[in-house]
Formats: sequence, C-alpha cells, structure tokens
Amino acid sequence: MIKPDAVENGHIGAILDKIAGAGFKIVAMKYTQLSKREAQEFYVVHKERPFFGELVGFMTRGPIVSAVLEKENAVEDFRALIGATNPADAAEGTIRKLFATDIAENAIHGSDSDENAKIEGAFHFSGREIY
Ligand code: GDP
Repeated sequence: MIKPDAVENGHIGAILDKIAGAGFKIVAMKYTQLSKREAQEFYVVHKERPFFGELVGFMTRGPIVSAVLEKENAVEDFRALIGATNPADAAEGTIRKLFATDIAENAIHGSDSDENAKIEGAFHFSGREIY
C-alpha cells in the first residue's frame, strides 16, 4: 500500500516508478480508502500496541493505493526497497527515506512474509482482480 501521507504529498507516481524500476511486476492495483473496520482488521496484529488508534486514524484519513507485486524473492527485495519502519533509520535511496515523514507516517507498507502477502492480497483484491 502507498499510505495516505504519500498520496496526500503527491508521491504516487514517483513511488510506482521506483517499484517498477526495481523489477517488480504489478499484477493488481486500485485507488481506494480504508474504512475504520478495514484498517482495524488489516493491522489486527498491532491491536494491543499503544499506537493502534493512531495507526487506524492515519490509515483511514485519505485514499491509498493498494497493489499486488510479483518478483523473485519479492518480500525480501521489497522490504529492502522500502527501507526501515522509521525513515530516520532507513537507508539512502529507499522509498521511506525519500518519501516518509516519520515512524507513523511512513509512506508505504510491504508484506513481511509470503504467507502475509497472500492474506493481504486477498484482503484488497478478489481473484478476478489479480492478473
Ligand atoms: P512495518 O512492517 O515496517 O510497516 O512496521 P510494523 O509492522 O512494526 O508497524 C506497522 C505500521 O505501524 C508502521 O509501518 C507504521 O505506520 C506504524 N507504526 C509503527 N511504529 C509506530 C509508532 O511508534 N507510532 C505510531 N503512531 N505508528 C507506528
């Protein structure tokens, strides 16, 4: 997902360019806005964390771009492309270093395992929306 901060700041095009330039194939994509219930479901693993309410508020405050990406070694390579959760710790040239504001408003989400990529892909897309 390209998160609401990056959409608000006009970074959709630049971020998609970085993703395509790194060799990822887009197999599904949509521009949408999460409801509170959807954001709570998506981030349910964080529901006991002190920042959960803030995270849900942030993720629902404006539209996002969600996508399913395909590549060899996609999860690891995409996590490397986006950089550390906190942009202050992210490597130079990573998407979060370039486009994120802080640890909360960090521009982009990437799945952390193949298993979660499947679950998250199915959260955003039906089978007939993935090509
Ligand atoms: P990620 O896998 O790199 O996205 O990081 P996590 O799974 O640890 O956290 C999920 C998301 O929660 C992050 O991408 C941030 O948007 C948000 N988040 C993480 N830590 C904090 C925090 O300390 N405060 C707030 N407000 N949000 C946070």
